[in-house]
Amino acid sequence: MIYLSVVIPCFNEENRISQTLSKITDYLKNRGFNYEIIVVDDGSTDKTISCLRDFENIVVLKNEKNIGKGYSVRRGVMEAKGEYILFSDADLSTPIEEVERLLEEIKENDIVIGSRASLESKILIRQPWWRERMGKIFNIFVRLFVIKGFKDTQCGFKLFKGGVAKRIFELGRINRFAFDVEILFLAKKFGYKIKEVGVCWRNSFASKVSPITSSLNMAFSLFLIRLNDLIGLYEKIIPKQMGNGK
Ligand code: UDP
Ligand code: MG
Repeated sequence: MIYLSVVIPCFNEENRISQTLSKITDYLKNRGFNYEIIVVDDGSTDKTISCLRDFENIVVLKNEKNIGKGYSVRRGVMEAKGEYILFSDADLSTPIEEVERLLEEIKENDIVIGSRASLESKILIRQPWWRERMGKIFNIFVRLFVIKGFKDTQCGFKLFKGGVAKRIFELGRINRFAFDVEILFLAKKFGYKIKEVGVCWRNSFASKVSPITSSLNMAFSLFLIRLNDLIGLYEKIIPKQMGNGK
């Protein structure tokens, strides 16, 4: 029985993924966890795939073309076999050691999400001012139009009970960066217990988030979440469908 599955979405990550996988592997082995690492290559055009060899307990999935972080995390989660499932960004902006605190909290909760905006968060390297601003505005939109109660929906470090993750992600349709909001929306809708925990964050400046395209796409995704809910798409399980939303 696998205790922890770690899902990592990767789009053109040849410069950071080897180091990330070494750190995660060292940590998980040291802790003596029964683990698997699921890397989802999101249509990378660089040498990401060849950096993935030589690691133990690794499952590699490859999207034919670039579809988005949301799609990739969803694909990884649906393949994961762990009792607990963590997804993490390829740059380890939140160090893997932080999973310790999330694992402690998951005993009392169904989902524990990392947060850069709570009192106990430790922001060691901040995002550029425009990204912080973008995050704050996005959070206001999230609160106004989709869900209340979260200070930071977008941190790329979230832990789920395995069965809970499957149930939620199976219904997910948002393929790009706003998928976290959809996941939290569904989790609340189904009455799961969610806890937001302040984590350590060291921003990595090589980002795939673009100020204009990503902002527009994320705003549109909020509208889609509401629409999908209104027309009943989040009511039924559609077997083996990965979703084709934005
Ligand atoms: N990512 C992905 N597909 C994409 C864009 C990003 O799988 O189309 C992955 C990326 O490789 C990383 C994660 O999503 O693991 C977060 O991306 P990034 O670090 O660029 O975002 P930021 O930290 O700036 O929010
Ligand atoms: Mg990053």
